Amino acid sequence: MSNCIFCKIINGEIPCNKVYEDDKILAFKDINPVAPIHIVVIPKQHVQSILDLDENTVSITIDVFNAINKIVRLLDIDKDGFRVVANTGINGGQTVSHLHYHILGGRSLQWPPG
Ligand code: 5GP
Ligand code: ZN
Repeated sequence: MSNCIFCKIINGEIPCNKVYEDDKILAFKDINPVAPIHIVVIPKQHVQSILDLDENTVSITIDVFNAINKIVRLLDIDKDGFRVVANTGINGGQTVSHLHYHILGGRSLQWPPG
C-alpha cells in the first residue's frame, strides 16, 4: 500500500531500527516505546488488521508468532516474560492500519491495561 507507513518501512523508504527479518516478517523498535523493550512485528504482506484476515491470509499469524518466538529469545525476555498486543480498531487504539503486534517487555506490566 503506497500510503502505508509500515509498507514504507518494509520497502526502505522510511528507516527503522530492525531487530529481526525473514522473508515474510519484519520486526523493529517502536519509535515511541512504552516499555524498556517495545518491538513492532509486522507481516511484509499488507493486511489492515485482524479483521481483514481470511482463509487466504490467516496463516500470516503463524509466521508472526514463529518470529515472536525467536525475537523474545534474541532479546532475552523469554524467561522474565513479556506481553504481545494487537491493538485493533478505534477502541483498541490502532493508529497504523497495517496488521502489527507489539512485544512489550523489560519491566512488570500492569493488568488491566488503561
Ligand atoms: P498502534 O498504535 O497502531 O497499535 O501501533 C503503531 C505503533 O507504531 C505505535 O506504537 C507507534 O509508536 C509506532 N510507529 C508509528 N510510526 C512509526 C515509525 O515510523 N517508526 C517506528 N519505528 N514506529 C512507528
Ligand atoms: Zn502496509
